Amino acid sequence: MELQTNVIKPYLDQVYPTVSHGSGVYLYDVNGKAYLDGCSGAVTANIGHGVREVIQAMCDQAHKVSFTYRSQFTSEPAEQLGEKIASWTPGDLNQVFFVNSGSEANETAMKVAIQYWQEKGCKGKNKILSRWMSYHGITLGALSLSGHISRRKRFASTLEPAPVLEPPYCYRCPFNLSYPDCRLHCAEQLETVIQRIGAENIAAFIAEPIIGAAGGAVTPPPQYYNRIKEICERNDILFIADEVMTGNGRTGERFGIDHWGVIPDIMTLGKGMSAGYTPMAAAIVSDRIIEVIREGSQSIMSGHTYSANPQSAAVSLAVMNYIDEQQLLNQVNERGLYLSRGMQQLKQKHSIIGDIRGKGLLYGIEFVKNSRVGKSPFPLSEKITDQLINQAMKNGLLVYNASGAVNGQAGDAIIIAPPFVISEREIDHLLSILDETIRQLTEELIEKGVI
Ligand code: PMP
Repeated sequence: MELQTNVIKPYLDQVYPTVSHGSGVYLYDVNGKAYLDGCSGAVTANIGHGVREVIQAMCDQAHKVSFTYRSQFTSEPAEQLGEKIASWTPGDLNQVFFVNSGSEANETAMKVAIQYWQEKGCKGKNKILSRWMSYHGITLGALSLSGHISRRKRFASTLEPAPVLEPPYCYRCPFNLSYPDCRLHCAEQLETVIQRIGAENIAAFIAEPIIGAAGGAVTPPPQYYNRIKEICERNDILFIADEVMTGNGRTGERFGIDHWGVIPDIMTLGKGMSAGYTPMAAAIVSDRIIEVIREGSQSIMSGHTYSANPQSAAVSLAVMNYIDEQQLLNQVNERGLYLSRGMQQLKQKHSIIGDIRGKGLLYGIEFVKNSRVGKSPFPLSEKITDQLINQAMKNGLLVYNASGAVNGQAGDAIIIAPPFVISEREIDHLLSILDETIRQLTEELIEKGVI
């Protein structure tokens, strides 16, 4: 039984399976087929499906009150969640503005950064710098910042100016250099860009600590963000860390930026913050910034109807408590190592695997024609990533599309990011389906003469 009615799907004419239920790391469709959730949906269902404690918190709060409007009430769950987040975030990142999606969180971060400089009397500081090979959201402001070629193309004329910085993409260095001889040229480029545009015109620089949807867990080298932060500070430019994908434990630290020991001025969260149990996201702002706004116009010019609603707050709080209580961060690191070893073995076996990168339980796999002889990408027209994802799904494995954004090249890449609760046996299952899927795809590509 397939229900296909008038719900607009990502691809209008594609038939999607109808989900029935989820349990742990598996999803089941109405025909009883099981899918191993190898990417937590959109790197979101971080604690797996059907967690009893979260469902209980959801019901308890629904019995009390689900919705109150943020300019009329605050609530215990929202206040407790704010405290919980502040106890996780580094430095003086203590002030939390709740929204409902990663895109909204980044829109809020942009506005707070611009408002901060306005309150300080620097009205010209209103540009937000960003990198190519990035994704910050689908709303027009967040999309303006996004260096994701295929997603921004259609709206290019409506968007604000494009990103300005090359990505820290060591596998295909935009400067044809290699680490450490490069001396972090990709970070140094920020200094040049700032000089060209003028620090007096720039409010902030935004980056994903580990690049997600636009490249597949592309991980900058050591000291990269330390250098970025230094340059930002020296030029009076705020640093915004977009932790929508990397936050809340996904990379084995509480936040992706913790791997570099750098404290951003603003941090955005989404996805794993509520692990898919409710729409919830946030912009976390430093005490310093809020103090300036408090002394100025006293109110942040942003917000949505559902911001800080008690229902979503209670659910997110239960998710964060669950991660602490079950010590899931340790598990992310342990299982991440196990998964990464298994994927390295697949790389030895399959010549179309070019690169494997990432941290914790956030991994990217980039595909090339033949990694034994070079890094030549597949032609875009072959839609290799789509083929792989479809075949994996047929085989009962979900993986995430991270292709199409690599400096205008093919850039076939997927993300593997299972829920933190995945067992070693389940990782073995994931790897065996992935192995078989890549074998089938390779066979087909040989048959078609593509490789
Ligand atoms: N930032 C990053 C780093 C993301 O990965 C995403 C979603 N893929 C977003 C922002 C946008 O989040 P949302 O889809 O919830 O608006």
